[in-house]
Amino acid sequence: MTRSAWVAALNHTAAATAPGHLYVVATPIGNLGDLSPRAQQVLAEVDTILAEDTRNSRQMLNHFGISRPLLAVHEHNEGAVVDKLLHTLREGARLALISDAGTPLVSDPGFVLVRAARAADIPIIAIPGPCAAIAALSISGLPSDRFAFEGFLPAKASARRQRLQTLAQAGHTTIVYESSHRIADTLDDIAQTLGARAVGIARELTKRYEQCEVMPARDLPAWLAADSNRSRGEFVLLLSGAPESEGDDLGEATRILKLLLRELPASSAAKLAADITGARKKELYALALALQDKGPENTD
Ligand code: SAM
Repeated sequence: MTRSAWVAALNHTAAATAPGHLYVVATPIGNLGDLSPRAQQVLAEVDTILAEDTRNSRQMLNHFGISRPLLAVHEHNEGAVVDKLLHTLREGARLALISDAGTPLVSDPGFVLVRAARAADIPIIAIPGPCAAIAALSISGLPSDRFAFEGFLPAKASARRQRLQTLAQAGHTTIVYESSHRIADTLDDIAQTLGARAVGIARELTKRYEQCEVMPARDLPAWLAADSNRSRGEFVLLLSGAPESEGDDLGEATRILKLLLRELPASSAAKLAADITGARKKELYALALALQDKGPENTD
């Protein structure tokens, strides 16, 4: 047997888990082939798997012949069960946290438990793997040196538009999640806000009808409407950052707007800032409302 074959054999037989540890395990976002061998080993060894939706996870685990006990931990009960889980961990239990798809805590439950476990000095081990945001970024061809993850945009149209106005000022790529229910409305708003700016749309990643396109924001609604299949499934949107000059212009307008907001109501401040800088009044008004929403320190 070669040395590397020995190492592989030892790694295979060695336990992947230890008592009193919490494992945060990423699971596939569509293609079951993406559950790593290490994730499979951890899930097969732990005492209990904490899952967002036990029925959904049971199906996935059955595929791998894993039959460990499942306990539901989701956004509605996470706070209520956390103390009990910490107690079990302190007693030496090996627990694995998974979500319905991808990496737990990324627009998924788990934050309350992980924060509490860290505060209680319980060892937490990441078993990394699929994440829709990172998968989309890695194939979009949009700048990946600096990016921000925004999760889901607000469901209410006015709040969503305001949020987009603020995000439009960022100099880095912004990653947004969206579902099929709201994709058409969200793309309309993105088209209005970002105009000619490049936006990536990735849908059904790792699945049969996977797609990833990059186009000017204003073309997105027509692209979606051209084929009814395109509104189906799950989406990641990637908003490219403001070009340096655009960012600078808006940066200057924002600075002036903040000064004016100290003395004037939002509409007058936006009008004056637009007159002074040549930026669009509508955009500045939305920004003024967003700044006021965040409180007085943001207008300083
Ligand atoms: N924790 C997951 C992760 O690591 O990506 C995200 C969970 S969040 C509740 C679900 C959202 O992720 C979907 O609405 C969609 O925006 C995105 N998503 C999940 N799977 C996807 C896929 N296969 N293709 C594109 N987007 C996906």
